Amino acid sequence: MEKRIGIYPGTFDPITNGHLDIIQRGQKLFDLLYIVVPNNIQKNTLFTVDERIELLKEVLKDYDNVIITKTDKLTVDFATEVGAFAMLRGLRMVSDFEYELQLSAINKAMNDKIETVFIMSSHELSFLSSSSVKEIAKFGGDMSNFVPEVVASALKEKFNK
Ligand code: ADP
Repeated sequence: MEKRIGIYPGTFDPITNGHLDIIQRGQKLFDLLYIVVPNNIQKNTLFTVDERIELLKEVLKDYDNVIITKTDKLTVDFATEVGAFAMLRGLRMVSDFEYELQLSAINKAMNDKIETVFIMSSHELSFLSSSSVKEIAKFGGDMSNFVPEVVASALKEKFNK
């Protein structure tokens, strides 16, 4: 049978327990899941793309069937290149919906062979974002419920500099 390949694109600045939840649940839908970080993003990130990749690799080191990589390509083109039929996105609250709807419509217009698949966040993680975690870290708050330990350490190091 043909392998069911998916991609989970995101900035992951840094990966949180919210992303991890989507990866754990989304993984069941695919034989192989690429976690892909765009290299050329306009966003002002706290971590460089290589630092974000390192953290993803550390956090996901025991996961089979997950490949972590960065790309200079458009997400849909990356998906095509690796033979993916779908991309995975997480939905937290209504406020995510408009942005995600627009993004999926644009991607569909560029390549209608790639589906976007949404997983609703677990409700206890629905308030969690990379930005809020960075805000907590900046003020020295406890991050242990929000991010894996390696990420908490990396955040502490960033803000202690
Ligand atoms: P992007 O800049 O592409 O939105 P993010 O790293 O912020 O990158 O998010 C990647 C994906 O993960 C998005 O679909 C986002 O909605 C989802 N996501 C982020 N945080 C959570 C969370 N706490 N629960 C569920 N999904 C989430």
